[in-house]
Amino acid sequence: LVNLQDVHLSFGAVEVLKGIDLTVAKGDAVSIIGPSGSGKSTILRCINGLAQPQAGRITVAGVRVDALRSEAERIALRKRIGVVFQQYNLFPHLTVLQNITLAPVRILKVPRAEAEGHARDLLARVRLADKVSAYPGELSGGQQQRVAIARALAMRPELVLFDEVTSALDPEMVGEVLAVIRALVREGLTSILVTHEMRFAEEISDTIAFTENGRIVAQAPPAELFYKSGNPRIRQFIGGFQ
Ligand code: ATP
Ligand code: MG
Repeated sequence: LVNLQDVHLSFGAVEVLKGIDLTVAKGDAVSIIGPSGSGKSTILRCINGLAQPQAGRITVAGVRVDALRSEAERIALRKRIGVVFQQYNLFPHLTVLQNITLAPVRILKVPRAEAEGHARDLLARVRLADKVSAYPGELSGGQQQRVAIARALAMRPELVLFDEVTSALDPEMVGEVLAVIRALVREGLTSILVTHEMRFAEEISDTIAFTENGRIVAQAPPAELFYKSGNPRIRQFIGGFQ
């Protein structure tokens, strides 16, 4: 579903991605781990067309993302890809239900009643069925992040990108968000997750990619990457989290 080949991206004189190769099959969960500043978020931004690489080939669901030229084409791509960030960015003046139905109604032109029905189903899946009418300010961080996940799913995306979605949460709220993602992954949601939760990545990922200094040093099943890697840098990085 997603394929990056030899993707290079520079900001000014600084080369941030130095030839990225990454593959994500439909239904797979792929985690990206690696040191701060190694290019993880930039890889996600390339996949949904928010950053434009200078060289290389990016295909998402049959679309050549690197060849998109108009803003309209990029917007069309972004409709098909859900994104969840560290900061949940919910609209504070809208209820949970309104936050979730806004984009489907406005952008996909889904009839309101249908969008609300779907939103209620999604809220049940993220275990917030009782928060339909709450405002974001009335929710905990973990609850807000689960609303943000439901909001991304409301667009019926073919792929969801998660960028350190638990990093801003208090420790006691991390588990409830990871539980929701785990269930979605088990249901077959195609996803790419940038995460520092090593145990979680090991448990749910089909493959894990390790980034360092603008390169993907390895992409392999968790057991292989975690326990059989001959690369001392990978062993050291993972060891630091155990
Ligand atoms: P972290 O774990 O801290 O989130 P990351 O692996 O996600 O790090 P990126 O955000 O992809 O790293 O950034 C990679 C490099 O690109 C960093 O050195 C960063 O400073 C630089 N960078 C990212 N975005 C920009 C930008 N818009 N302009 C200039 N430099 C940028
Ligand atoms: Mg990042």
